[in-house]
This record gives sequence, C-alpha cells and structure tokens, in this order.
Amino acid sequence: MLVEEIRIEIKIKIRNRKRRSPVAFRCGLEFLWPGCILGPRMNALLLTGGRVIDPANHFDALADLLICEGRIAALGAEAAAKAPPEAKRLDATGRVVCPGLIDLHVHLREPGQTAKETMATGTAAAARGGFTSLLCMPNTAPAIDNSGTVALIHELAATHGRVNVFVAGTITKNGAGEELAPIGSLKQAGVVAITDDGRCVQNHEMMRRALEYAKMFNLPVLDHCQEATLVTDGVMHEGYWSTALGLRGWPAAGEELIVARDILLAELTGARVHCQHLSTAGSVRLLRAAKQRGLPLTAEACPHHFTLTDAAVAGSEKFWGTDGQSLVAFDAARSDLPAWPAYDTNFKMNPPLGDAADRAAILEGLADGTIDILASDHAPHCDYEKQVEFDYAPFGVTGLETELALALMQLYHAKRLSLGDLIAKFTVAPARLLGVPKGTLSLGADADVTVFDPELEWVFDKSASASKSINSPFYGWRLKGKAVAAIVGGQTAWVDQTRFAGV
Ligand SMILES: [Zn+2]
Repeated sequence: MLVEEIRIEIKIKIRNRKRRSPVAFRCGLEFLWPGCILGPRMNALLLTGGRVIDPANHFDALADLLICEGRIAALGAEAAAKAPPEAKRLDATGRVVCPGLIDLHVHLREPGQTAKETMATGTAAAARGGFTSLLCMPNTAPAIDNSGTVALIHELAATHGRVNVFVAGTITKNGAGEELAPIGSLKQAGVVAITDDGRCVQNHEMMRRALEYAKMFNLPVLDHCQEATLVTDGVMHEGYWSTALGLRGWPAAGEELIVARDILLAELTGARVHCQHLSTAGSVRLLRAAKQRGLPLTAEACPHHFTLTDAAVAGSEKFWGTDGQSLVAFDAARSDLPAWPAYDTNFKMNPPLGDAADRAAILEGLADGTIDILASDHAPHCDYEKQVEFDYAPFGVTGLETELALALMQLYHAKRLSLGDLIAKFTVAPARLLGVPKGTLSLGADADVTVFDPELEWVFDKSASASKSINSPFYGWRLKGKAVAAIVGGQTAWVDQTRFAGV
C-alpha cells in the first residue's frame, strides 16, 4: 500500500470514528496501525476464566482471552494485563471459550422463499445456536447459479446478517442436473464451494466434468448423495418401520451408490469431494475404506441422524420403547419424555432417519474420524407445508439452535469424543474444507468466538426459537449443553442475557 493511500485510509477512519460508525471498528488499518494510536477508546472485550479450547492450535487450558478492534489480541496471562481499562468484561468461568462455530450446511431460503426463513431470521438462529459463520445452500429461487445472485446474497448478508455468511453455488444450472453452472465465474464472485444440495447430479459424466472444473478453481464439491432411480418416491428409510407404517421405503443403497460413485470420481479426478449428511452404515463403511487409501474425501453428519432413528416416525412411544432407550440423558422411565404422534412430519427429512445400526455407524464414524464435520442441514419449512399427510410434506427440519446440544450429548457426554475433537468438527475442519480464514483463535485472527456451557440443561421451547419456521423434531426435549454467547468480529452477535446481564 502506498503511503498516500495509507494517509487517505487513516483520514476516512478518523472521520468514521467521529461519526461513531461501527464501520470504523470493522475495517481500516487496525492490523497495521493499532486502533489505540488513532483514538482514545478501543473496542475491546475480555473473556475471563473460561476453558479456552482451540483445536487449530492444540490449545486447551483455563485462560483469559482478549479481543481488540475485532481481532484476537491476547490469550493467557497477557490478556488481562493488555486489556484497556474501558474493555467490556465477560465472566466465562465454568464455560468453554472456543473459535466461533461454523455450520457448512444451512438453508437460509433467501431469495425467493422468505416465508420459510430470511437472512435476518436464519442468521439470528445461527447466532443463538452459537454459530458465527455459516455456508448457505444454493437451492433458492432463483438458485445461486450465477454471479449476480452471489452478489445479492453478499449484499443481504452485509445488511441483515448477524453472522458471517459464506456462499455455495450450484454445480449445475438451477441445480437441475442438465448443464454445468459457470463454475469459474461463481468462484470469481466469491463462492467457497459448489453443491446441488436438495438434489444430486445423476449423470456421472457431468459430475466428472464438474469435479475437474472444481479442481481447477480449487473449490470443494459438496454432494447430496441420492440415486434417484433407487429412491424414486420413497419418504422414509426402507425397513421394518416403513412396512409397519405403510410408507414408501427409501433403501440405504440409494445413498450408498452415490457415495461409491463419488469415491471413484474423486480417485479419477483428484478433486476434493465432500459427502453431505451421511445417514447409513454402508456410507460410513465405504468412506472409511476410501480415506484409508488416502483419497481426498470428507464427510459431514447431522444431529438428527445420530440421535433419532426411523422408529421415531412411528411416534414417541415406539421410539422411547426401542431405539430411544440408548440416548444418554434420557431415561425411558422418565415421566417428562418428549411426546409426538406417529406420522409426525417433523421427522421427515432427506436423507431419511436410518435404523439403529445406521445411527450407531454414524456415531462410530464421528468417533474414529471417518466423518470430519458436524452440520445441521437447517431446512426450514412453513407450518402449513408440514401440516399435511406424511407423503406430501416437504423433507427437512430446522437445526441451528439444537445442533450444539445434541452433538455434546451424543458425542461428549456419551464419552465418544473429547471436547477438543468435537469442537474441531465445528471449527477448524469446516474452515479448512472451505478454505476460509476462520475456525481459530490465533493471534490476529478475526475475533469470532463462541462461549458455551457444556453442562447447562435446558428445554428447547418452540416460542423461544429465532428461526421463522417451527419444523424441529426436538421441541420439548430437555437438552444438555448450550451456547451462551456468539461473538462475530469482536461484536456480540448474541448473548444469553439471563446469564450475562449488561453485556
Ligand atoms: Zn441435502
């Protein structure tokens, strides 16, 4: 940067400060020219006494964390000493302080489906769930298959977003699977991944070409693995319960065939392929073997797939009487177990809930590292769309606000993963896959920080949700573990006022 340019930027910065614009704290030359030189007051926050866990730096200790001017400024003994007197303080004693959580599978529904969710409500739900960054899926209306729509999402995010919004573009035009989207110009417009999520490219030659282009542009390809001719019009997992309930079944092979296809094409092209929302034991087995051969694949799992099973579609009584018994923190004899009827459409999602063996395999895959990333597949739908017969309801459930708790319960409290390994699947792993500078508390990094209490018990209340939609299967569930603050770029995007009064 030329000296003259630096002078101009400083002038702009000082002018912004006089206007008390928050922009002054977000941009400018803090990194080169610390804000304290330019003004008498710093925008600082000191988090004290928390257990700081940063898997990217292998850090796990009780420590203070100082945030200044939107950046991580100090960690440990130095933090309190360096904090300016005007710094806000947040007592994190008894809580975990970690890099801001990232959810790389979120349907914000904007543009075009704002009755279900908007940029404002979706990102508010993300912040409340402890997420500071998300990747929005491109199956909107219109689809994110051109640079203009990418620019629109960036603008919406800048205006209404509570958290960082990264954008995925489609693999094919309109996600229709017939013609490749302009992958190069999507990359130029700022997408960090491509996916036809909600659908799956059925033409293997087209998928091969998409992977080759994606490799040229260093973009990961996220695949919703679903073989259409096997799945046809299935609405739930094919097995005992689909037969008992008289619902059309969706065979596990409908997912596994495409996981196998993707493994073969990853080997053929060398492109980075990421399998979304894995739901079957066979998928985990295939992926484990592929990763052992060193192929460039990654995968994600969603809380509903590693908590619930297809027995839940038969109603709460059947679920708690069978597969629900093994859930940690849920004693089948308890009188306040959540209840729901058979054919409840909040248990209809794509891919569908598997059986108990599938759930066990997903948990095992998460524990042994076969599955790298945790994600919600937050898929809001209007109540009138869901309040129809099971066959006719759209697939999908909301998930941003319950995701952390369910992951803590099924992985940490159930002693399958350490806290550090769990946090890695929400932070450094998705950041690396997407190539975004997030997921770490390194000095100088963006001050995206999540504070959560892993022991806090709470009940998920429909009326307290920030999402515009109410299609979660977990209302009324007593959960263990909760985010209490989400800090984005040094600013509190959400804080639980009942626990941090005055912040
Ligand atoms: Zn999907």
